[in-house]
Amino acid sequence: MTYPTQPTASHFIDGAYVEDTAGTPIEVIYPATGKTIATVYEATPAIIEKALASAQSAQKAWAALPGVERGRILRRAADMIRERNHDLSVLETMDTGKPLSETLVADATSAADSLEFFGGIAASLTGETIQLGDDFVYTRREALGVCVGIGAWNYPTQIAAWKGAPALACGNSMVFKPSETTPLCALKVAEILHEAGLPAGLYNVIQGRGGVGAALIGDTRVAKVSLTGSVATGRKVYAAAAEGIRNVTMELGGKSPLVIFDDADLEKAVSGAILGNFYSTGQVCSNGTRVFVQSGIKEAFLARMTERLAGAKLGDPLDEATTFGPMVSEAQLGIVEGFIAKGIEEGARLVTGGTRPDRDGFYLLPTVFADVTDDMTIAREEIFGPVMSVLDFETEEEVLTRANDTPYGLAAGVFTNDLTRAHRMVAGFEAGTCYINHYNLAPVEAPFGGSKLSGVGRENSKAAIEYYTQIKSVYVGMGDVEAPF
Ligand code: NAD
Repeated sequence: MTYPTQPTASHFIDGAYVEDTAGTPIEVIYPATGKTIATVYEATPAIIEKALASAQSAQKAWAALPGVERGRILRRAADMIRERNHDLSVLETMDTGKPLSETLVADATSAADSLEFFGGIAASLTGETIQLGDDFVYTRREALGVCVGIGAWNYPTQIAAWKGAPALACGNSMVFKPSETTPLCALKVAEILHEAGLPAGLYNVIQGRGGVGAALIGDTRVAKVSLTGSVATGRKVYAAAAEGIRNVTMELGGKSPLVIFDDADLEKAVSGAILGNFYSTGQVCSNGTRVFVQSGIKEAFLARMTERLAGAKLGDPLDEATTFGPMVSEAQLGIVEGFIAKGIEEGARLVTGGTRPDRDGFYLLPTVFADVTDDMTIAREEIFGPVMSVLDFETEEEVLTRANDTPYGLAAGVFTNDLTRAHRMVAGFEAGTCYINHYNLAPVEAPFGGSKLSGVGRENSKAAIEYYTQIKSVYVGMGDVEAPF
């Protein structure tokens, strides 16, 4: 099967598509059918070298450009992405299986937002002046150099841009390695950036599994690594980056709490829990998968949730009427089924779902467990699939302690109509990204990231600038130089 936007080769290096069939083939599988739609080849050492060499040679001239010129190119790329949104969304759907009804509004559009935002900010990156009598210090906010981006499979277009846009705005170059499960979309981001005028070598995409990522991180030319992935991979990548004292951004997994008080607006709370558990077939890092529901609203919540889930349209992801697609891979489906079996075995009550529907592809019905307790595996481990765990609670104090009783700290949410309680709860949450009476939105204007095992650093917003630049401090003497002898 071909589709209009298919990239023409495995890698994009030095401003052009590059193929090297000597690398191990990686089959790209369309999750809705299980059929192979493309083959890319893992980067060989020669490809890795070419990407790093090109990123290094292009970076200094790019950093020397006025910010407004760098920004203009990024903003042009944002416009081009918006114009091509439909094609890019189809590609995202083919790569991930997420329904087109989602990808049309959440993926290429998010990449465009990121390029537009950081394109706009590029011209306003400044240092500061610190007056010390007649002497003074000024600071220069400088690029880091060659940055490596490594992506997860759930948001391949978005992740490629969320890392690339701030890196480029700040004067860095990037070598991006997408997930081997969804290798196609980042190539289009690279293609469009260069078509928009980005000089060759500044944004390179190479394919491969963990070994290619590890080879990139270990290279002495690399100044920074930004990973989106699991905690297990994060530990390895962080440790490898530490060898070279490299900067890092770590966007890792989560097991986030979503707390619903009796006084919440039921319909809004159910909508929030749907967004936080079933959008992208539950394959979202910030999902609020531990849904704590206060006892007074519990039965009404479960009844309404079951009703609303019956309205999910599971089907062909390319049909815009479909609202619930397959999981990304057979392997991920198997992992999630293992968690469902564990939930049943450990005594959770299966309210709905739990099985595969009768159709081809990696589909799983939206699944809700009730009567889940804190010690159950499904309440402790990241599942990364469409499985919601509903836990009961009585008091605010109790639920906050239990919500924070996790090694993760990516996100947390609360639904309540009590204004002061809402703010008390978010002040108490041990999480980087919090929500009051909403869930799972990630606008580019707001910092996004986790605490505890969920990560280091922030993406999006002005905060991301800190993670793609370094400060040089310059002392300027205006008078005599006094020395002790
Ligand atoms: P993963 O950890 O298996 O892989 C992530 C990336 O790391 C892939 O590109 C992979 O090839 C690469 N990799 C693996 N081993 C490596 C190594 N030793 N050195 C360098 N690179 C290596 O994650 P995944 O299964 O692709 O994605 C799902 C995970 O990502 C979940 O845990 C999810 O929560 C997390 N995630 C986090 C965020 C966030 O922003 N916090 C967003 C999306 C996904």
